[in-house]
Amino acid sequence: MTTTAGPAASGLPVAEPAGVRRAALRLIRRDGRVFAVVIALNALAAGTGLAGPWLLGRIVNTVEHGGGVAAVDRIAVAIVAFALVQAVLIRYARYLGHRFGERTSARIREQFVDRVLTLPTSVVERVGAGDLTARGTTDVATVGATLRDAGPDVFIAGIQVVFILGALLVLSPPLGACGLIGLLGIWLVSRWYLRRAHPAYLVEGEANSGLAEVLAATASGARTVEALGLQQRRITACLEAIERCRRTRMRTLFLRSVLFPGTDISQTLPVVGVLLLGGMLYGRGEVTLGAVVAAALYLRQLTNPLDTILIWVEQLQSSGASFARVEGLDRVARPAPPTHTEPVDDRIEVAGVHYAYDGVRDVLHGVDLTVRPGERLALVGPSGAGKSTLGRLLAGVDEPRTGGVTVGGVPIAELPPERLRRQVVLVTQEHHVFLDSLRDNLLVASAGAGDAELRAALAAVGADWVDDLPDGLDTELGEGGHRLDGAQAQQLALARVVLADPHTLILDEATALLDPSTARNTERALAAVLAGRTVIAIAHRLHTAHDADRVAVLEDGRITELGTHEDLVAGGGAYAALWNSWHAERTPSS
Ligand code: ADP
Repeated sequence: MTTTAGPAASGLPVAEPAGVRRAALRLIRRDGRVFAVVIALNALAAGTGLAGPWLLGRIVNTVEHGGGVAAVDRIAVAIVAFALVQAVLIRYARYLGHRFGERTSARIREQFVDRVLTLPTSVVERVGAGDLTARGTTDVATVGATLRDAGPDVFIAGIQVVFILGALLVLSPPLGACGLIGLLGIWLVSRWYLRRAHPAYLVEGEANSGLAEVLAATASGARTVEALGLQQRRITACLEAIERCRRTRMRTLFLRSVLFPGTDISQTLPVVGVLLLGGMLYGRGEVTLGAVVAAALYLRQLTNPLDTILIWVEQLQSSGASFARVEGLDRVARPAPPTHTEPVDDRIEVAGVHYAYDGVRDVLHGVDLTVRPGERLALVGPSGAGKSTLGRLLAGVDEPRTGGVTVGGVPIAELPPERLRRQVVLVTQEHHVFLDSLRDNLLVASAGAGDAELRAALAAVGADWVDDLPDGLDTELGEGGHRLDGAQAQQLALARVVLADPHTLILDEATALLDPSTARNTERALAAVLAGRTVIAIAHRLHTAHDADRVAVLEDGRITELGTHEDLVAGGGAYAALWNSWHAERTPSS
């Protein structure tokens, strides 16, 4: 069982901060016009919001100088009018802001799916489902929520803060300066927090992925865990992952527990300062009472947008980390750009191939092999010798570390998927039924095939059940639709192979151990698929080798013998020993 347990084994990269900023700018530019309108509306709304305190100051001054009720009423009506205009502007700004957020988050989701689908298969297999799932669900949802709620709110609040501070300084420079100095506290506390929060949230995200990975691996391998008595090990792994999550969350909780009280105090201090200084200046006749009142009101008004920013700053931090993880997918090394060269024939050549799963420890040590078109080649050897690994390289699933695997002179891993499919297909027991119609399930193998071809492919593998389906080729398969049993799913997979029509098939027998109840059906289907093609069979049962044209013996990552069954048996080497002992087991002398 190969399960990755924890983020260290994940290997999916995270985008660097500059890359995250560039990606964010790209997204904004895609909807640039709407974004500009949102800014303009918000600026107008913030500007209108400044009228209230200023007009209240005017009321104070009017009353102080003996102004009548009528004058006060006029100002009061103006305050109400400004408040109404501001409400309307804010409503539209929000509406457009949220639409922008929803559209952008849809783009992020689409981009994520596109990127996942173009990840090299070997990377997907290595990183495991947990990390990818966490990035595609939790992280994408966090970024989406930020764009929908936090982003527009923080944006509006930011504009309000700038406008209010500007108004404060224009109203009375000394009072404005006093307010600004008082606000330094918020800046200091926030800076302290922001410096620590980004790495802390990244680690928390990693810990979440790690936990998802361990749980997913444990659940999917539950039977193996039970069979091998590994329960305690898995429980320990889960507990360790939970403990890591707890520790990383406690760290971010601590950061918040400093941020919030710190900023609360920092918001009250400037109001106190402005009232004290304002009282003094008013006593000396240097400012009007109205100006002091307006300044104090502006500072109080500042509390709302500042609170909004602080409440969301945490979300912005964690979504910054999430966005870095989502964008990280774009940093996965892609294989060399697909070649346009067409293979000249169907010959497969393996030359000087070394391969290491971890990039360090080779499991194949210089393999050379030529597979002749149309032949049946059996790969045999002890477990762990590298047969399946060689099969993956032959199928272009992975690239050799050094050396080359070519088909008709073209490196096999450089062929784009749709052309590779027409050359070589690896047949394993891992077949997948997509939640889609039977037709679309087949078209993945050959996009341009017509109904007649699809039906012919199904008929070739003996899938006569298609006529019994409620909607024929349009029948929806999978959860909620028509469920195929194991044998039918196998036939569907083999029909795809018929449609892809590759000249070479690689059969990994270890995974193709047939369920006895469906074996006969599937064996017949398989025979139909194999006819007329080159077949490389990874043989775990030696009768496959006996029936093959040639047998290659793989030991410890090297091909040690190659020849016909008869030649190798006559040669008296490793294969002869394997064959004799296998044969003796099956024909006990009585
Ligand atoms: P065989 O098919 O002959 O049993 P494999 O090709 O599966 O052998 O394995 C060859 C070697 O590569 C073994 O040492 C095995 O442990 C290692 N190996 C196989 N799969 C992986 C993997 N996904 N990651 C790391 N090592 C692997």
